[in-house]
Amino acid sequence: MVATLGDYHVHALGHGEGEFTLGRLEEFALQAHKAGLAELGLAEHDELLHRFDGEVWASACRGNRPISLRLGLEVSFRPGRLREIRALATRYPFDYLIGSVHDLDGWPFDHPDYREGYQAWEIDELYREYFRVVAQAAQSGLFDVIGHLDLVKVFGYRSRRPVVELAAAALQAIADAGLAVEINTAGLFKPAAEIYPAEELLRACLARGIPITFGSDAHRAAEVGRELWRAAALARRVGYRSYVRFRRRRAELVPL
Ligand SMILES: [Zn+2]
Ligand SMILES: [Zn+2]
Repeated sequence: MVATLGDYHVHALGHGEGEFTLGRLEEFALQAHKAGLAELGLAEHDELLHRFDGEVWASACRGNRPISLRLGLEVSFRPGRLREIRALATRYPFDYLIGSVHDLDGWPFDHPDYREGYQAWEIDELYREYFRVVAQAAQSGLFDVIGHLDLVKVFGYRSRRPVVELAAAALQAIADAGLAVEINTAGLFKPAAEIYPAEELLRACLARGIPITFGSDAHRAAEVGRELWRAAALARRVGYRSYVRFRRRRAELVPL
């Protein structure tokens, strides 16, 4: 593991089951250190932001530890939420905002309980629609990073046409907006059994000059940094030689 890497996508609150306490943040930081990371970026789901405690966070940041903490936020992007998201972004001094598409028109396509919804779609049409919303997220100007770029593959339903073709306009929008994409290892533990994004998509990102971050999408301390070494190896294999860190929404390129 490269000693400067950061895990920029962790949820101390999980899906709401975790408590936002100093002890829990310390567990996450300790695990990040054990995983050989230099930075840990908290990115709670925006719908749980009311449970984020700025004082607890400030004391976690004051702690003397080898891990440096960053404050992110993972926002569920929907085209109708622009104003709401703009307001959320000013609530705390965020280092970065991740824009993620978790539902299409109210259908939470990444949730196992709603999996039968896939039956209603021709698969390439679904991929097109998903990437159309991702492009809108990029064009919104609200985010620094696009989360789990090809989440639509979560249950292993693969497009017929090459995904790079279906995602082309979204990739261009991401590049034009100067956003990063994250290499998110959570997909390895889903039916898709593959890092987000797929290698061919990552190659297409590099070709367009899109920078990268790394994230485990940990919902428990034990998952922090999970398989990030594989994400870093993938990035290098594809040809990336740098990644980005964020501080107060400013990106800084770091050698990989
Ligand atoms: Zn997500
Ligand atoms: Zn997440």
